[in-house]
Amino acid sequence: MNIPTQEASVRRRAPALDAAVVGGGMVGAAAALALARAGFATALLEARAPKAWHLHDEVDLRVVGLAPSSLALLDELGVWPSIRDARAGPYAHMHVWDAESGAAIDFDAASEGRELLGYIVENNLVQWTLWEALEAAGVRRLCPAEVRAFDAREDRIQLELADGETLAARLLVAADGAASPLRQLAGIATSGRDYAQRAVVAHVSTERPHDGTAWQRFISTGPLALLPLADGRSSVVWSLPEAEALRVLALDDRAFLDELGLASDFRLGRIMDTTQRAAFPLKLQLAECYQAERFVLLGDAAHAVHPLAGQGVNLGLRDVTELRDTLVAARDGGRDIGAAHVLRRYARRRRSADTLDALGFDALARIYALQSPALVAARGLGVRLLDRLAPLKRRLAEHAAGL
Ligand SMILES: Cc1cc2nc3c(=O)[nH]c(=O)nc-3n(C[C@H](O)[C@H](O)[C@H](O)COP(=O)(O)OP(=O)(O)OC[C@H]3O[C@@H](n4cnc5c(N)ncnc54)[C@H](O)[C@@H]3O)c2cc1C
Repeated sequence: MNIPTQEASVRRRAPALDAAVVGGGMVGAAAALALARAGFATALLEARAPKAWHLHDEVDLRVVGLAPSSLALLDELGVWPSIRDARAGPYAHMHVWDAESGAAIDFDAASEGRELLGYIVENNLVQWTLWEALEAAGVRRLCPAEVRAFDAREDRIQLELADGETLAARLLVAADGAASPLRQLAGIATSGRDYAQRAVVAHVSTERPHDGTAWQRFISTGPLALLPLADGRSSVVWSLPEAEALRVLALDDRAFLDELGLASDFRLGRIMDTTQRAAFPLKLQLAECYQAERFVLLGDAAHAVHPLAGQGVNLGLRDVTELRDTLVAARDGGRDIGAAHVLRRYARRRRSADTLDALGFDALARIYALQSPALVAARGLGVRLLDRLAPLKRRLAEHAAGL
């Protein structure tokens, strides 16, 4: 009789974890929660503990516009009501205009048959609320934890952590941000371009109310957005060439308020007051594929896009929904959730959808950087036409909403 050694029997046993998610940003934390809620044994590994969110703290400088598809996921995960009730700025209108031609386009929730276009929410609030929900959902949280190496085997992927601990799961989910060390360890290349721009962000008070409207002015140096915050102020995302961004960052408050007023064409009147400022480098980066052996990429680890359409995290949360649905279908069909043919479905669908969006945003950035009078006139004509073509405009709005 062949009695298996203890080691061999341990090796043959299925790994205790279905999924190990690495990166506890908005996307990774949402992925871990979604997988746990779907019944998968899940661990989340994060290098740095997120900052606790408190109502009386100043509004986090990093905010995102959450589209209806993201709100639906967060609601399904049971975290949206507490985020909304804590601090979220609803917006029902969007006004986008071209500094050169003056052409404008308006999106209005009511004309799309919806109550709202979305909410402006602090990154830290979303991340913290998800993080807090993980334990109750049964997610094993490891923090601080960093993956040093991994090795895919027949029935599992073995992770080696920086502190020497090892972990095995059927699937490794990398949501470790645009610089993604795991993507590099997996040998997945990226393509894209550096915009040589930075987005200067700040929260400002304005002379006139924001009217629950997201304002965006396309300037040849880059787009300027004024996004409506819950407390009546607006959040500035001002994309500028590198040197110009550093200059604006170094201005004293008075000069900054004056320059911002001019750049925003005083659409909300004078800019009265500002918080401190920060700047984030901008690039287009797409992973060449979203899958390796027992390994998938999602969120910024898979795609980093220009913030002009405010879609980065919305694409990441669509990755989460697709991955969760793919894995549930595989499990219900009795298949291994880490099998290559299962992961291929997720990887193909999301990569093609993300690529289309990322290249669309990139094309917009290029088109609005053009300054030749003939091209500016053609661009103005195109925008005015689009504003009048209700069905096409509706398709665009539905696409941005992720519907
Ligand atoms: C100025 C600006 C404005 C933006 N506005 C919008 C907007 O309006 N709407 C929108 O949808 N998107 C917007 N975005 C994009 C959005 O912020 C990002 O898409 C989103 O934050 C990405 O989330 P993520 O969870 O994928 O990555 P990240 O937030 O980068 O999280 C990655 C996490 O992984 C952790 N990590 C990294 N390496 C390791 C490791 N080795 N081990 C363990 N953990 C690790 C990090 O600590 C971090 O917590 C904007 C971006 C910028 C720069």
